Amino acid sequence: MMALKLTTLLCSTALAALALSGSASAHDPSGKGGLPVAYSKRMMAAMKSLARMDDSDEAKGIYSKLVQWPPTYAKLRVCFMAGSDEINSKVAEVATAWTDDAKMSIKLDFGKAGSPRRCDPNGRESQIRVAYEKPGYWSLLGQNGVVYAKQEEATLNLEGFDKATDMAAFDKPEVQGVILHEFGHALGFLHEHQSPLSDCSNQFNWDYIVKYLEGPPNNWDEATIKFNMAPYAGDDLKLMATDFDPQSVMLYYFPAEYYLKGKDSSCYIQSSNNTISPTDRSTIEFMYPADRGERLKNFADSKAQFMKIWDKAADSGTRDVGLNFPEAFFGSKGVAADEE
Ligand SMILES: [Zn+2]
Repeated sequence: MMALKLTTLLCSTALAALALSGSASAHDPSGKGGLPVAYSKRMMAAMKSLARMDDSDEAKGIYSKLVQWPPTYAKLRVCFMAGSDEINSKVAEVATAWTDDAKMSIKLDFGKAGSPRRCDPNGRESQIRVAYEKPGYWSLLGQNGVVYAKQEEATLNLEGFDKATDMAAFDKPEVQGVILHEFGHALGFLHEHQSPLSDCSNQFNWDYIVKYLEGPPNNWDEATIKFNMAPYAGDDLKLMATDFDPQSVMLYYFPAEYYLKGKDSSCYIQSSNNTISPTDRSTIEFMYPADRGERLKNFADSKAQFMKIWDKAADSGTRDVGLNFPEAFFGSKGVAADEE
């Protein structure tokens, strides 16, 4: 959980300066845009509750898997809060690359071809709700989109993409990269540089990074910086993580100054990755395997691990009654494959 909140923050401006969205500086994880404060507050409160129950590395690994969509979701209903049909269709077309894959058991469902689904807070639940008007590019991670945000709230933002006048903009690799990166988060992906197997943390020039991000326009405090930049903890996460993948669409571009060895660092990339890498592909197939039995088993294992912590917390009096975690993360209704 710790990892979740700031993942979204960083993303917010990671790939700015696209043709579509004005002239923000390209690699400026700034305070300009990020996860809405209201969501952060809810998540921070939940993270505190989890930490109070169990703050071990093992527990953190278990918590990190809560973002994965349970097997009751054969697909995710995506809706748009704004945008023309033409533009929303383009976003849908690009994002669908993630789940256009016979080896996995989750799909992105955008509704009718040619007129993608519009968000309706009073209608059936949509799991991914796309907005364009908020600052930055960001997405809640996986199931967090239905736990920490209400139906009338966006879960994924692509600032200004609805202003595109030329549809050729969506053929640009960097525009496709933003869409794929954010939908990667919506499917439950974390940032590659924060993978516990990445070694990027050791290669970072922390003095430079802290100094840079502490200054305007970010004005981040040290905890926020560590949160964004340091590796995710968790034994289980190590099992889930792949070897560092420099081609991942989830890898964040940082300037050479961020690294002790500059451009010679193995984490340095010249520009953002804009396509789903083979390792991204195998990771998502691992998270949502085509074999339904396997997906059910993984889910049951995660639930059992979490329930151990939850039950123990009742005994020790450290359970917070504010959020019913088992209900929120394991009690979802889901969406069947043949549902509209
Ligand atoms: Zn991101």
